[in-house]
Amino acid sequence: MSVRYIDSCPVGCTAALSTTDIVMPEGPLLSCNACGQLVSQISEADYLRSMQAFDDAGFNLPDARAAARRARHAGARLARIRALLGGRLDRRPRLIDVGCSRGDFVAAATASAFDAEGVEPAPQIAAAARAAGRKVHTGLLEEQQFADAQFDAVSLFEVVEHLRAPLVLMRECRRILRPGGVMLLSTGNAASWTARVMKARWDYFQTEKDAGHVSFFNPRSIALLAERTGFEVAAIVTSRVRFAEKSDLRGLAYGVTKLAAEALALPARFYGRGHDMLVYLRNPSAA
Ligand SMILES: [Zn+2]
Repeated sequence: MSVRYIDSCPVGCTAALSTTDIVMPEGPLLSCNACGQLVSQISEADYLRSMQAFDDAGFNLPDARAAARRARHAGARLARIRALLGGRLDRRPRLIDVGCSRGDFVAAATASAFDAEGVEPAPQIAAAARAAGRKVHTGLLEEQQFADAQFDAVSLFEVVEHLRAPLVLMRECRRILRPGGVMLLSTGNAASWTARVMKARWDYFQTEKDAGHVSFFNPRSIALLAERTGFEVAAIVTSRVRFAEKSDLRGLAYGVTKLAAEALALPARFYGRGHDMLVYLRNPSAA
């Protein structure tokens, strides 16, 4: 009998988990009765196997279009972090990107006058980042033993959906962040129109395709995660809708579906139903 990797709500609720109609190869996703967090029923052994796909310097390399989109996003995100930090610093704000992969956001932050570094657990990817001239440490954030309140900003992109215990990492992020500091995290939105329409066909839910996604947030559960680790929510922004993966539909059918999704992009943003979720948090200043 295999042991399930996650057997309670990762956000820390004590409520039971119920079966959903999103049926994956490892069984239906389970939903927390209190916050709606969805979790995979994958076994611990299969989860660890899927994570191995990560440590490859070529993993998840963006194509040119995706790279251009990421660069645009990085600039907008850094501008918003700076605005939230407010006030005047007499030095470059110090930022750390946790789970920084090849360090693209570290490079963008450096170019935007941040004193930026990253930490990445996959050794080959971290080495590739350093080879590209980025200041990247190998290992888990907890292993770096940063002093308290070292950073003005912490970013955590597409990490929390991989974790059985995100509360532990969130507390560590807050510990190294100064009072008044800003945290930015991104993850998928399991309450999105994309998730509702595509269900198990959404690539994001595939542990195999998206190496180790096991825990799926919604605006409510991510706000709970933030509050339970002492953060204040500054903003939650969702974007983008998709009703088919390119691999499911071809030609005209895919084109029509794509147009429908594009027409809904703006309302999805307005109603918080986009599938990409960006969360700006603040470490409260001491009262
Ligand atoms: Zn919950």
